[in-house]
Amino acid sequence: MSDVLRVQWTIIPATAPEPWLNCNRCRGTTRFRTSGKIRVNANGKRLDAWLIYKCTSCDSTWNRPILERRHVSTIDPHLLASLQANDPDLSRRLAFEKVRRNLKVEHFDDATVRKEVVSESARPTCRLEIVCVVPETTGLRVDRLLSTELRLSRSRIQSLQSAGHLEASPEGLRRPLRNGLQVRIELRGVHDGDDIALAAMGGEA
Ligand SMILES: [Zn+2]
Repeated sequence: MSDVLRVQWTIIPATAPEPWLNCNRCRGTTRFRTSGKIRVNANGKRLDAWLIYKCTSCDSTWNRPILERRHVSTIDPHLLASLQANDPDLSRRLAFEKVRRNLKVEHFDDATVRKEVVSESARPTCRLEIVCVVPETTGLRVDRLLSTELRLSRSRIQSLQSAGHLEASPEGLRRPLRNGLQVRIELRGVHDGDDIALAAMGGEA
């Protein structure tokens, strides 16, 4: 058995991005939050669909266009059924998609992390390799993720990196997580290496 522990973390953000838009009632720029509701309007064979957002201050609505004047025959039947059923999986997916260029968007860093062991290692573990699956955009930074999930302080994470024991690629520690992020931590000679390995697998301390 190898002495490398490989794990996969899937990060599920809790809060969808919130765009800043002009609110007529607030008379200024405010953040809008998805209501999770989809509105569909059919006009003959043409169809419009919107995801409904609400101003976080006054509840005014903003209709984010999903489909505009689309001929029904050109819409994928599964998509059409999901739009008409107000399918929560679809409205969530839409809420995490990029709104449009040049729009200021607030990203959040609350998330759930699902941990799976890809290949176990012999004890003691000499190296930990983490691959992150990030299907939706998140504002969660790499150092915060590692600190929370490995139960280490952020300064410890930083010093592991400075000492050359930790490597996050391709983005580095201070950037928001992106799909495919890989983290390698050398645990050889690290006094709490077993605790770090256990936390990486999702075990209790
Ligand atoms: Zn408002």
